[in-house]
Amino acid sequence: MMNRKQCKMLTRILIAVIMTACLQFIDVGGWIRLSLYLMVYIIIGGDILLKAWKGIVNGRVFDENFLMAVATVGAFALAIYEKSGDYLEAIAVMLFYQIGEFFQSYAVGRSRRSIAALMDIRPDYANIEEDGIIVKIDPDDVEVGQVIVIQPGEKIPLDGIVISGESSLNMSALTGESLPREVGRGDEVISGSINLTGLLKVRTTKKFEDSTVSKILELVEDSASRKSKSENFIAKFARVYTPAVCYGALALAVLPPLFLMLFKGAPFDFSTFETWIYRALVFLVISCPCALVVSIPLSFFAGIGGASREGILVKGANILETLSKVKTVVFDKTGTLTKGVFEVNAFHDKEDKDLQERKARLLEYAALAESASSHPIGKSLQRAYGRDIDRTRITDLQEISGEGIMSVIDGQTVAVGNGKLMRRLMIEPCHCHIAGTIVHIAVNNVYAGHIVLGDEVKLSSEEAVADLYHSGVTMTVMLTGDRKDVAEQTARKLGIGEVYSQLLPADKVLRIEKILETSADSAKVAFVGDGINDAPVLSRADIGMAMGAIGSDAAIEAADVVLMDDDPRKIGKAIRISRKCLRIVWENIIMALGIKGICLILGIFGIVNMWLAIFADVGVMILAVLNAIRAMYVRKI
Ligand code: ADP
Ligand code: MG
Repeated sequence: MMNRKQCKMLTRILIAVIMTACLQFIDVGGWIRLSLYLMVYIIIGGDILLKAWKGIVNGRVFDENFLMAVATVGAFALAIYEKSGDYLEAIAVMLFYQIGEFFQSYAVGRSRRSIAALMDIRPDYANIEEDGIIVKIDPDDVEVGQVIVIQPGEKIPLDGIVISGESSLNMSALTGESLPREVGRGDEVISGSINLTGLLKVRTTKKFEDSTVSKILELVEDSASRKSKSENFIAKFARVYTPAVCYGALALAVLPPLFLMLFKGAPFDFSTFETWIYRALVFLVISCPCALVVSIPLSFFAGIGGASREGILVKGANILETLSKVKTVVFDKTGTLTKGVFEVNAFHDKEDKDLQERKARLLEYAALAESASSHPIGKSLQRAYGRDIDRTRITDLQEISGEGIMSVIDGQTVAVGNGKLMRRLMIEPCHCHIAGTIVHIAVNNVYAGHIVLGDEVKLSSEEAVADLYHSGVTMTVMLTGDRKDVAEQTARKLGIGEVYSQLLPADKVLRIEKILETSADSAKVAFVGDGINDAPVLSRADIGMAMGAIGSDAAIEAADVVLMDDDPRKIGKAIRISRKCLRIVWENIIMALGIKGICLILGIFGIVNMWLAIFADVGVMILAVLNAIRAMYVRKI
């Protein structure tokens, strides 16, 4: 598929080719010949001349258009002066340059489109039910809390909670995971997923603009505009390089002939200049930097697109570049390496009386206190409680990150959290002999008992850590607010190098800063967290990666890389994708500069003529663009 601009461009190229071919059979000379060729030249190169002229007027003289305009006008002028009638060269240069431009615009358009297609998650409408009839409305007009209907085959337009129906969802566009996910009443669903089998009614929890799908699209659209250091390097390079080339060409046209005339007895007229002017024009054509100017942003764009197809959102080219240098990966434990889905393993009451009833009270208090928490512990306690929560009983509530919750329930102060929270309240927590995460509960400043929670390590965590060492990472660290024994057990099981436990969120920041200090400048540090309690660490690390981030706005905001599913194996994959992309960028830089360098030298000695020069230029560009597109293919990496 081509757009209108590309169609026009192709038409002009074809007309020019046909006309040029016809001219080869028409044997006319003099002014007629010149004006026929000039006509073709204007058809094929008119816009370049115009752009070059506009550049000069706007003070941005030295760009590719200028190089091409000077080279071809020069070639034309030389041919007129020499009365050779050989205008073909100038036309060929323009023609091939335009073919290269066309190809590039086509390739860029294609990769943009295929990224857009894979990001084709924007829903066009939402269904609402009015008097038993389904009405399609703009997702923007759906209110929070409104019920929407999703039929099989439709995209879920807004984030929400299923209130009736059962179905399986295809979330591959969001997470790269092709296995469908089963959902039923009470489950959260995410916009952008495709409803495969059943009719779902969903109560929306977010407006369209805050829904996952809008966040993702925003993120991918923005990422293209954040430039990497390599890109900046090329922009700066082109600013210096192009003028340098132009002055170089001028010197080549003037100095050698002057030298020959003054010291070697060459004739004092224009004929001495002729060869050197021609060589200078060739020099201009060869040195056009478009291969780099085009291929480097394209490589990053393709890399970011390929990664997002795998459920890895990278927020910009600069981040992809830093990612490729990651040597240390620091993990948060809960929700990152572990499932963050806690099971209640035991209740321990202060006194052992009326056990059943007191257990129920402990859990009820815990669940009420946690009713507003998005922490995995809080969510698990709410789930374990299982009943609807009467929020009118809660009159005050405060979450202390890394410690727990302070609340007022039924007029009594209820504290739910770890040993730190208890000690802050001057309560000595009861020691527990069972291994696990302990949630202590105190009512009116009197210790009431604790609940022992167990969390499972994600099935893929161990493989993920091993995989990191294969992707060039040399150190892994775990930071957690959890107890020492649980932390060390998990780290040992997964093969993580260092563990720091019982950290408050602020301690995690200090720890990350220590790690940043001790690692070399070129060895970057990534922090992987779930976005709960660790947003400051996410933004402090060189690279912040948020796990399980679907729906968690804080994480999407704070992180540089968002892993759409909770799979920690994506960390290694993200690093490998970035390395591939950077390798391609450098391949292109070296190839382009290498070939151009050789051609320039040959050009100075008159070995390369204009035909070869334009072939080299366009050829290098096409190779570079094709190579850049490779960055998009990362499935099997
Ligand atoms: P991690 O570093 O493992 O992700 P956090 O920093 O989120 O852990 O929390 C550290 C500890 O603080 C938890 O292990 C838990 O003991 C306690 N905690 C934090 N939030 C809560 C909460 N909402 N309810 C109970 N305990 C909590
Ligand atoms: Mg956490």
